[in-house]
Amino acid sequence: MTYPNQQVKPISTKINDKGNLSISNIDLLDLAKKYKTPLYVIDKPTLEKMAKDYIEAFSIYNKTNILFASKALMTGAVAKVLASLGLGFDVVSKGEMFVLLNAGVGLEKSSFNGNNKSQEEIEFAIDNRIDHFSVDNFFELKELNSIANKKNKVQKIHLRITPNIECHTHDYIKTGQIDSKFGFPLDKIDKAVSLVLNEYKNLKLTGLHAHIGSQIFETQPYYDLVSVLLNEIKKIKDKYSYELTEINIGGGLGITYTKADNPPSVFDIAKIVVQSIDDNTKKLNLKKPILYIEPGRSLVCSAGFTLYTIGSIKEIENIRKYITIDGGMADNPRPSMYEAKYEAIIVNKKEENKQELVTVAGKFCESGDILIKDIELNNPQSGDILCVFDTGAYCYSMSSNYNSSLKPAMVMIDEGKDKLILKRQTLNQLVQNDIID
Ligand SMILES: *Cc1c(COP(=O)(O)O)cnc(C)c1O
Repeated sequence: MTYPNQQVKPISTKINDKGNLSISNIDLLDLAKKYKTPLYVIDKPTLEKMAKDYIEAFSIYNKTNILFASKALMTGAVAKVLASLGLGFDVVSKGEMFVLLNAGVGLEKSSFNGNNKSQEEIEFAIDNRIDHFSVDNFFELKELNSIANKKNKVQKIHLRITPNIECHTHDYIKTGQIDSKFGFPLDKIDKAVSLVLNEYKNLKLTGLHAHIGSQIFETQPYYDLVSVLLNEIKKIKDKYSYELTEINIGGGLGITYTKADNPPSVFDIAKIVVQSIDDNTKKLNLKKPILYIEPGRSLVCSAGFTLYTIGSIKEIENIRKYITIDGGMADNPRPSMYEAKYEAIIVNKKEENKQELVTVAGKFCESGDILIKDIELNNPQSGDILCVFDTGAYCYSMSSNYNSSLKPAMVMIDEGKDKLILKRQTLNQLVQNDIID
């Protein structure tokens, strides 16, 4: 059995009677006509399936809290779907907290992460009763303690640590190795703990947190990560007679962007994590901790796809054929930032069979704005609609107004129904902060 994070397409993708690509019984050609392109689409059944898979996989360990890493995709409608299934949120800014609160989602199950939280953000999180902070560094410890003190509050915290675990993933998305801007290095944990226990009376330390990277295709790093966290908890217990009761193993599970990717399922991850908790708590004589896990990409990515219209086509004979779409790096910067790879299909042409090797170029003024280099498409022509899969994570959330382009709309589809969940930006919004004297 394969799970959504192991599939390129949303769960109910098929070709309908008209020969068009259809997802959740929505004809994507009709959808593109109705809402125009470029268009972000979220398939609700796939989104819910991914969340339910996480819940089911970790039901083998009933002390698990699943937090969605909001930075992967932050919109009120998506947050509401995930909150209704019982998930909390990992937030990294006042903006993310604001979007949640605006959608009626409270912060009582959420964690505030980040390596440079401002005073204003810290106050906002405390005032809105965030469950805990994942404190990244000494500067923040001091700042948070003093703000909590002013507010006469004892704030629950975890310490974010750098566990020195390397994953075979792209350099830019590695965070667990020693040379990282995130977290306390292992040899500084003792100092941080001692400060919290002895000086910072407005902080209550309950656990350790680490995040080892993204788009991870191995299970062993998760076993090792739990070992590192529990070993540190053991050292703290031995020295301070104080046992931390919570661990947060971050996110990072990979997904299948192209057929070359072969990630484990969330069930594989749950098994290895719980195995490591069992082995290490026994070995170190520790209590079974409450487990936090913070998936971003693997919760939302496969539920999302983007529709574009093909415009100009440029053929450089014997070299390359460029198919240009009406979007690109402004709505999906991942290929130009990380050399990310994507699969795509022409929505309206499944019956024909004239596969052609082309390069899908974006419309923005950078030579690097290539969405997909070398992909087989079925007789691509100007006016065709192109569906690019797996754009649910880190596309809208990393989008920009480069070239004064307007951010696309986002639609959620569900069994024959479509609903606008994010309006397309307007020209007026583009200039609303302009001051012209
Ligand atoms: C980005 C991030 C996540 C989510 O990572 P994914 O690869 O999207 O699952 C979780 N925790 C922290 C601290 C992060 O920075």
